[in-house]
Amino acid sequence: MAWYCTGSTNKELIENLSREGLIKNERVKRAMMEVDRGHYAPSRPYSDSPQPIGHNATISAPHMHGHACEYLINYLRPGSHVLDIGSGSGYLTHVLANLVVGTPSNGGPKGQVIGVDHIQDLVSLAHDNMSRSEGGKKLLDTGSVKFIKADGRRGWPEGAPYDAIHVGAAAEELHPLLVEQLKAPGRMFIPVSAEGTPASVALGGGQYIWVVDKKEDGSIHKEKVFSVSYVPLTDSPK
Ligand code: SAH
Repeated sequence: MAWYCTGSTNKELIENLSREGLIKNERVKRAMMEVDRGHYAPSRPYSDSPQPIGHNATISAPHMHGHACEYLINYLRPGSHVLDIGSGSGYLTHVLANLVVGTPSNGGPKGQVIGVDHIQDLVSLAHDNMSRSEGGKKLLDTGSVKFIKADGRRGWPEGAPYDAIHVGAAAEELHPLLVEQLKAPGRMFIPVSAEGTPASVALGGGQYIWVVDKKEDGSIHKEKVFSVSYVPLTDSPK
């Protein structure tokens, strides 16, 4: 059970998630070990639960970050390009970057993660949080990670196509513009509220993670994988 995974340190939390089988892949485990949630969650950072970060947003629970990475892992290779929509605290953006950036300074492939949020304060917060570690600062300085203010429902065409797209807030549909911005092959991990239920009402139920694959031949395969509870993907506040 997810809440048994709470630890008193980052290492303990990740070890517990791994022991309970919520993280299976060694690369995911290492990438999460290397990012201290204490830099991203203002309270109870090592609890396996979502925590408020202001502006009605939350940093998702660690087991959800784990699931997202596990589903996307085959598309997260050194050199991959990734879009993280609803980047909020910036925590997952950092973990994703650890999985794709590689060692460009040694001539290795240059991966990149773009974090998009529609609230400027959260874009700044993610940047500040990431600057709290040497590793994070380097990702920002080299342009391997960029945080951008935009409506994520339109994706970020300037950086497309992406090997992987992660959506961190519940959408009302499988936005075609996002599917368009996937590489072939590429994969999107997206929470979607059940048909006919506005995301704002579906909070607390009626949402499912969908995994959308664009195959090498450009064909699309969609699969509904498990039920979740995310804050909604909305219009930006006035
Ligand atoms: N992955 C983040 C989740 C943050 S909560 C984390 O774990 O920290 C969801 C985020 O989606 C919020 O930061 C919210 O501001 C953002 N969001 C909601 N609607 C959006 C939209 N239309 N475009 C971009 N970001 C949006």
